[in-house]
Amino acid sequence: RAKATGKNKYFIYNKDLQIAFEKRMKIEKNLRGAMDNNEFFLYFQPQMDILDGRITGFEALLRWQNPELGFVPPLDFIGIAEETHLIIPIGQWVLKNACMFLKKLNDMGYRDMMIAVNVSILQLLQENFVDMVLNTIEESGLKPEQVELEITESILVESYQTIRTRLLQLKEAGVKIALDDFGKGSSSLSSLKQLPINTLKIDKSFVDSISTGQIGESFIDTIVMMGRKMGLVVLAEGVEKKEQIEYLIKRKCHRAQGYFISKPMPEDQAIVLCRDWSNPLVKETV
Ligand code: C2E
Ligand code: MG
Ligand code: MG
Ligand code: MG
Repeated sequence: RAKATGKNKYFIYNKDLQIAFEKRMKIEKNLRGAMDNNEFFLYFQPQMDILDGRITGFEALLRWQNPELGFVPPLDFIGIAEETHLIIPIGQWVLKNACMFLKKLNDMGYRDMMIAVNVSILQLLQENFVDMVLNTIEESGLKPEQVELEITESILVESYQTIRTRLLQLKEAGVKIALDDFGKGSSSLSSLKQLPINTLKIDKSFVDSISTGQIGESFIDTIVMMGRKMGLVVLAEGVEKKEQIEYLIKRKCHRAQGYFISKPMPEDQAIVLCRDWSNPLVKETV
């Protein structure tokens, strides 16, 4: 009986693997034409100053709609885009279009806003990365101070010095840097100290533990305190509940982002959100 189960499991495992492999191949094949076929677009998710209720800006999030595969979530294709180096042109497209969105908001009168753009390690390791970023920002008509690049902790492990140098050059030019998913990875506090970071984005997993577990809460307390001491902006990611916002306000976390405030949305809806924003939630909780 044990043998039969084992065999059965082996068979299922194999089939799962095959399906996963075929899916991967399909994604890779379609990804190659996605730029030329205009299959990418951006969604924008607001970031809010939870101490004064203002929208401080938006994070640009890549979306892909393919005729054969339908909607493919970023987590299903970003990794493949990195392995195939397609992330280089894609990332450039994201930055350009994200900047164009913010410029549009600026021109409509929403001036004190930032655009946050996710950047992959492979992009950072390109020789011309700093020039590409600064040129793209300049061509868009934004100030470098209005653009924040989000990097993840895993970046810090590889090619640390190269990355540090490039980030310093960007910082010198005014561009902001955020450390995304903070707490999820395994970066050391000393590397955090050595990199020119402006913003710390507390990973959703810690926010989730607010009101469910005391341990996660004490992590948040510590990160907020440390971030503030270092002069960083601290932003909590993945805020879904009112009690989480209330907790974060009490702890003096600066900013929050999450479904409780707004889901990521297309450009026209983001513009409407700016227009209609009156922030009843926060006034109620302060
Ligand atoms: P991220 O940069 O940490 O982005 C936050 C993710 O959490 C987004 O998922 C967002 O839709 C989701 N999110 C925001 N608020 C909530 C919430 O309250 N609850 C829950 N459950 N989720 C929330 P998304 O858009 O699927 O992106 C996933 C990841 O893909 C991003 O994580 C980022 O690492 C990567 N990504 C997205 N766009 C780009 C891009 O243009 N370039 C690169 N290199 N990576 C990107
Ligand atoms: Mg991000
Ligand atoms: Mg994140
Ligand atoms: Mg993430």
